[in-house]
Amino acid sequence: MEGKKIGIVLDEPAWPDGGDIYFHYVKNVTGRVSKPVPRSHNVISCFGDNKTARENAEWICLSKERKATRKEGQGWFYCDWICPSREKYRSYLLKLIAQTSSEEVEGIHLDCLGFPGEEYCVCEECKRKWRESGLNWVRWRQHVVNEFVAQASDLTDKEFSVTLYPDPFHPERFGLDLDFLSSHVSFFVVPIYDRTYLTLYWVEILANAFKRKLKKPFYIGLYAKEAETGALTKAALLASRYAQGTLLAYDPKKAQEVLKILKRRQSQMEGKM
Ligand SMILES: [Zn+2]
Repeated sequence: MEGKKIGIVLDEPAWPDGGDIYFHYVKNVTGRVSKPVPRSHNVISCFGDNKTARENAEWICLSKERKATRKEGQGWFYCDWICPSREKYRSYLLKLIAQTSSEEVEGIHLDCLGFPGEEYCVCEECKRKWRESGLNWVRWRQHVVNEFVAQASDLTDKEFSVTLYPDPFHPERFGLDLDFLSSHVSFFVVPIYDRTYLTLYWVEILANAFKRKLKKPFYIGLYAKEAETGALTKAALLASRYAQGTLLAYDPKKAQEVLKILKRRQSQMEGKM
């Protein structure tokens, strides 16, 4: 635990005491955009955007069978996903990144990055751009995401980070190119979410695999809303063995409880040294 950070991810600008690093959503998956939050890593949900999906249905990501939406996604999607090739939407995101970065924020963090699965996106725009690129399908999808990340990172002089899909084995399924991303970010966030954290072996497998794979520091995000404090604390201790730190997401009260326990433990261990 020593030297490991404990952070908090929240939708609203609340500040539970004692965290080492804070993340707040300036744009979340509903499409709501709020004021930049000072001294925090401001999170922008990039291609997950329900409002844009409602207003510009023609920009929604497509597979051969279905749209990447909550309605058609057979329980797989927690939000609606916009096609990463759409220039107008990319410009909107880049403008928001530049605006947010011009404020006194600690960092810019991109969430919902990439394609929502390997069968996406086969919209007319993607098919046309892929044909023109001369690249193979996997490389082309990575190129779409890489180009966006490069543009976004050029727009900020603050700390810059991205969320990865929690698959360390085949990240290319989501258009993610870990080597390229590593060269542009200060750190990664890997959400390993569960409702209970009653079994932890799979958290350990994923954390270990990411540690071996990533060339930059990473934080493991834990979903704090539903798990018992004890189980969540155990998961945080386990995650901290592999990552730079742990981020407790979406529940300020629970995050505060776990933070207290972990900080007490940290100071006890430091006292023993
Ligand atoms: Zn597309």
